Amino acid sequence: MYSLQAEASFDAAHFLAGHPGKCRNLHGHRWRVRAEVQAPSLNAAGPERGMLLDFAGLKQCLKELAARFDHTFIYEEGSLQPATVAALQAEGFALASVPFRPTAEELARWFYQALQQQGVQPAQVWVYETPKNCAAYYETPQEAADAQL
Ligand SMILES: [Zn+2]
Repeated sequence: MYSLQAEASFDAAHFLAGHPGKCRNLHGHRWRVRAEVQAPSLNAAGPERGMLLDFAGLKQCLKELAARFDHTFIYEEGSLQPATVAALQAEGFALASVPFRPTAEELARWFYQALQQQGVQPAQVWVYETPKNCAAYYETPQEAADAQL
């Protein structure tokens, strides 16, 4: 089995509504996203001969997805009062509302599925909140089969 990984990063703020600890406060991270693609064989011919896929293409795809969150405030829909959202928008801040709690785990799933929508089938996606802490998302063969139903 061959494996290829690419990484992108972005700076963004978030908070975890309802978290009992300090993560409930607005704070920021230098988020790192790493995606792995696997294949049992390499391309046998053409410009990608000897390659699993064009590394630059995967890197670019990941970079464009990360750019959607770069220098934004990521918040879960419904977790802020409408007046707060309106005030932040009036200040001109870049907001990224998501339909899930913006944890590293959920963001890993978001990147995994966003890559799939771009035609890339990742084996696994990791999201680092700090240099040492990361969450990963991957699908077992059964989960992948269920997702296609
Ligand atoms: Zn955090």
